[in-house]
Amino acid sequence: MQNAFAQHLAKHELRLEAQQVDTLQINLGKVCNQACKHCHVDAGPNRKEMMSQETAVEVVNVLTKWAIPHLDITGGAPELNPSFRYLVTSAVSLGVKVTVRHNLTVMFEPGFESLPEFFARNQVEIVSSLPYFIAEQTDAQRGSGVFERSLKALKRLNEVGYGQADNEHLALHLVYNPVGAFLPPAQAAIEADFKREMFNRYGIVFNRLYVITNMPINRFLGYLRRSGNEARYRHRLVEAFNPNTVQYLMCRNLISVGWDGRLYDCDFNQMLDIPLNDPAITSLKHFNAERLKRREIATGDHCFGCTAGSGSSCGGTLTDNNK
Ligand code: SF4
Ligand code: SF4
Repeated sequence: MQNAFAQHLAKHELRLEAQQVDTLQINLGKVCNQACKHCHVDAGPNRKEMMSQETAVEVVNVLTKWAIPHLDITGGAPELNPSFRYLVTSAVSLGVKVTVRHNLTVMFEPGFESLPEFFARNQVEIVSSLPYFIAEQTDAQRGSGVFERSLKALKRLNEVGYGQADNEHLALHLVYNPVGAFLPPAQAAIEADFKREMFNRYGIVFNRLYVITNMPINRFLGYLRRSGNEARYRHRLVEAFNPNTVQYLMCRNLISVGWDGRLYDCDFNQMLDIPLNDPAITSLKHFNAERLKRREIATGDHCFGCTAGSGSSCGGTLTDNNK
């Protein structure tokens, strides 16, 4: 039987099929120096799952063989994986654009102080979560003291050249997601607020603000259940379904790779252990971009989180960015 999202697509005479594979989004593991309340990965300092060096080599082989132009590295805190620098420098030497989902505070862990210089040398695009420009809201979601350390980290990144409007090679993007069970506001409006307040209050600059809808999975789902908001939140996502977002969904252009080398349609499907629809391609060992770009995408009810309102993806809202 079809899930509710697939039924919704059918009702709108839509199909969710891949278009190309222009991004390999790799999850280096669940180990993180933080343990944020909304974390869809359920990451934290006590987790053990880590991508092995052998799997990291397979990632580089796939990038080489299939000439994939973009490597998007996430975790946990991906920098804590011993293969992190190998992956970045190997990809850069192949001419691949590298994005790192960087939690800012990890640069203050012993041995990681030189991360800003490493990022700048390799022209890594940085995407960092900052729930709000005020300490209270940020610490409520990401932990006590995270806001102060995030500001310090952003200043370090600005010092090495990140976030300047005239330097596209050192891009620094922030990510906003709501602190409660509601949908995010319009990206353009809140980006203007963030830019003004971050500069006026703290002298910090950045390039874009990506607005992301919280997915009802893992820790955020736990919060929804504890607060009695699950049914209402799910209903709100379904009500806000926007058929115009479907053509821009990120799963149409990327493949997500788990810490153990298994392949998924996106990071959310990875967390929910929803495999690709093609049983012949389960891991990096079987990677075949020609076949993957013709696949039908596996969906679930969580997909309503990507199609609500202006849409949501790892690169922010969908319809606002693609008008
Ligand atoms: S920093 Fe990111 S990966 Fe780490 S716990 Fe927070 S949301 Fe999860
Ligand atoms: S959750 Fe994943 S598969 Fe579902 S619509 Fe979003 S990106 Fe696509």
